[in-house]
Amino acid sequence: MKILRRRKTKIVATLGPASSNADMLAQLHQAGADVFRLNFSHGSHEDHGRNIDLIRDLEAKTKHPIGILADVQGPKLRVGRFMGGAVVLTPGQPFRLDLNPTPGDSRRATLPHPEIIAAAQIGSHLLLDDGKLKLRVTHVREDHLETIVVIGGRLSDRKGVNVPDVVLPIPALTEKDRSDMEFALERGIEYVGLSFVQRPEDVLEAREIIKGRAWVLSKLEKPQALDNLEEIIRLSDAVMVARGDLGVELPPEEVPLAQKRIVQAARAHGKPVIVATQMLESMITAPTPTRAEASDVATAVFDGADAVMLSAETAAGQYPIEAVTIMDRIIARVEQDDGWRTMTDRRRPEPEKSTSGAIAAAARQVAQTIDASAIAAMTNSSSTVMRVARERPTAPIMGLTPNMQTARRLALTWGVHPVLTPITHSMTETVAVATKLARTEGISEPGQDIVIVAGMPFGKSGSTNALRVARVTRTNTEEAEFVDDA
Ligand code: PGA
Ligand code: MN
Repeated sequence: MKILRRRKTKIVATLGPASSNADMLAQLHQAGADVFRLNFSHGSHEDHGRNIDLIRDLEAKTKHPIGILADVQGPKLRVGRFMGGAVVLTPGQPFRLDLNPTPGDSRRATLPHPEIIAAAQIGSHLLLDDGKLKLRVTHVREDHLETIVVIGGRLSDRKGVNVPDVVLPIPALTEKDRSDMEFALERGIEYVGLSFVQRPEDVLEAREIIKGRAWVLSKLEKPQALDNLEEIIRLSDAVMVARGDLGVELPPEEVPLAQKRIVQAARAHGKPVIVATQMLESMITAPTPTRAEASDVATAVFDGADAVMLSAETAAGQYPIEAVTIMDRIIARVEQDDGWRTMTDRRRPEPEKSTSGAIAAAARQVAQTIDASAIAAMTNSSSTVMRVARERPTAPIMGLTPNMQTARRLALTWGVHPVLTPITHSMTETVAVATKLARTEGISEPGQDIVIVAGMPFGKSGSTNALRVARVTRTNTEEAEFVDDA
């Protein structure tokens, strides 16, 4: 069974109790999941390790490269436990947050983060349980904060705390994150998701640990990160519009604009960008989405995201396959629309002022003029393919690479159908391989042309400098008929 998508925008599916078995993984992949996300906020190393094994087994069967995102929790702040498990806070009442580990009550709670107590100021707001409750700081003491309840409600054990007004002087990576990252990198995954990135230094710190073993994917979920957006994207290999936490820290009306701004900036840098969280939220318990959710997925596709993501829908929901299936259908439908194509073309960034940038831009132009059935890009490090994807061509992009890790990474990139190929040593060989694969992968029919881009000398990264047009024939590689093959 060959996997060939009818769409350009990719789908990331989060794994969890609802989806962690071989049968579900195969069905999710078949239905459209291109990348699987392991959420290290939940589950043991054993659970994640088992899923990695199952994904690699599945990939070996389908021969279609699959990307794995190891998403580490980051410095997620939480209150401690309560006597009786929960308390109810009333607006206007005083409430104290302290370092005392004794279970809390209706007058106080443990906040086991001295850095926050030190960084908070009178007037700072603390949001509890995804922003459902809100406190305002009235006094900052040595070892506790006095607050007043602005929005009340029920507060239970270990609920999350967000502090939107304050740049927190806390490291981006906790001990748990370091151990989770080491585990994941050891096992071999394609991308590490960094939660709550605030500063460019946070990305640099992770890069030093990861050392090229995976793409560094910065999750943009802190307003502070938006102040450093360009620099964070420049230092990252990919980013995520993490609307869950971003939507707690920013007023709701700011989220759609932040999404558009992040997607456009990532596209200009040619870095993959995922739009995430609550995309088909109601499908956790229903077999069909709301029309508003269908519109949300469509908007992310119009905005130009490389990928859209499912979280609880596939990790813990009752309808994981249905969620991926409907997401696939919404994307495919939008991408058939002339208005979508017009908008995509209008937002195309200027080509990068380099030989590689010029070749990628030319490949899109040539493919469009001659109505080529594919653009095949031969790549080692992925950079050639990434440049072509940045152009958002109409023709499918074949990401050809002899490097398995590169093939898997490209599973996340807009419009790319990754294929593992033998190493080629010349343009003639590359043309032979590309034309054959275009046919056998089901992308081109005999008689159709493809555009091929590659770098010469072969095997040297970052040297995209050659463009060829070749015709796909009925026969095999050796007899491939070259167009203009002087
Ligand atoms: P999370 O990240 O699901 O790990 O919290 C995504 C988000 O915040 O949107
Ligand atoms: Mn988050």
